[in-house]
Order: sequence, then structure tokens, then C-alpha cells
Amino acid sequence: MNASPADQRRLLDLADLDVRIRQADQMRKSPPQGARVQELLARRQQLSQELTVRLGARDDLRTEISRLESDVSVVDARIARDQQRLAGSSNTKEVAGFESELTSLAKRKSDLEDVELELMDRLEQADTAVAEQEALIAATNAEGAELSAEAKRVVAEATASFEQATRDRGAVAAGIDAALLAMYDRVAARGVGAGLLQRNTCEGCRMVLSGTDMNAIRQAKPDAVVTCPECGCILVRTEESGL
Ligand SMILES: [Zn+2]
Repeated sequence: MNASPADQRRLLDLADLDVRIRQADQMRKSPPQGARVQELLARRQQLSQELTVRLGARDDLRTEISRLESDVSVVDARIARDQQRLAGSSNTKEVAGFESELTSLAKRKSDLEDVELELMDRLEQADTAVAEQEALIAATNAEGAELSAEAKRVVAEATASFEQATRDRGAVAAGIDAALLAMYDRVAARGVGAGLLQRNTCEGCRMVLSGTDMNAIRQAKPDAVVTCPECGCILVRTEESGL
């Protein structure tokens, strides 16, 4: 295949644009924040499950405490009733009975209050445990929101860059001979489409070419399209090639 050296050079611009298009496409499809956002979503789910457990434990304590409080009210009511009856009684045997019952009611009330104090203590710990878990979830949500916003910005930038590079590619491609462009596209479908030859090295694959290959390239006419014997890309020769 033959093509003008100027058209061959344009292939280098095309190859640069193809790299930019590919990178921007990759970036807009999977921004670097994606993995961490996924991690945070999984972590939030774990944290929420633990929060449910802690909320359940706190609810149980609240239920226990209110049951205990109603037990204390029952005892209080009995104490009031016994005291009233005691005040209104002159029967020694009855008085002794009320006094004995009042003593055991006082003991019962004191026991209930001891348990209640212990439960209140545990409720305080449960409140702290819930608050800690809620703080962790809030921090996870905040980091997730920040990263999502960052990812959105990256995707928007990459999309703009992708669209710009695609437009530029269209303009560059329009100026290249159709047959050469078709050859480039065929090669580019497998990897790098075109690379500059510089210091005996193909910039497409970074391989140093052998002396035999370099001799063959030196003998090729400027119009001849040569390819890299290592990677198959179109080797573009310019004054930088040092031939
Ligand atoms: Zn190569």
C-alpha cells in the first residue's frame, strides 16, 4: 500500500485521539471511585443490620423497664390501700397483718427498684451503642455521597473529553486517504493502529527493531506504508525517525 507521507503522519494524530477516546470511554464507564462506593454500600448494609440488632436490644430493655414500672405501681397501690386500712383499723390482729404485709411490700418495692436501676444503666449503654452505630452509618453515608459526587464529576468530564476527541477524530480522519484509513482501522481494531518510528524503536509497541528490519525500512520509499514487524501497527517515518 502506498500513501503520502503527510497522510501517514496524520495517522499519528489519529492514534493519539484513539488512545484519548479509549481512556475517556473507560473513565466514563467505570470511574475510579466506583470500587470504593461499592465497598461503602456493602459496609452500610452490614452496619444497618447491626443497628437493627442494637435497636432491638434497646426496645427490649424499654419494654422490661415499663413492665417493671407497672409492677412498682401495683405495689404502690397496695401499700396505699394497706396504709389506709391500717389507719382505720383498731383490731390488733388485723393491724399486725397489715404491718407485716407492708413490710414485705416495702421489700418487694425496694427489690423492684434495684432491678429497675440496673435496667436503666443497661438502657443508657444501649442508647450509647445505638448512637455509635448511627454515627458510623452517617459517616459511611457522608463518604459515599462525597465519592458519588466526585464520580459524577469524573464521568461528566470524561464524557465531554470523549465527545471532543470523537469530534476531533472525525475531522482528522476526513483528511486521510480512504484506503489508508481503512488499513489503519483494521490494524487499530487489534491494538495500536499507528506508531512513530524513533531511535530504531516502534512507539506503538516500544520494541527495538532489528538491524535487518531497520535496513528494509530505510530502503522503503517515502510513499510506501510500512508496518512494525513486532506489533503490526503502521510505522510512521518522520524527520524524528533519524533514518
Ligand atoms: Zn510495534
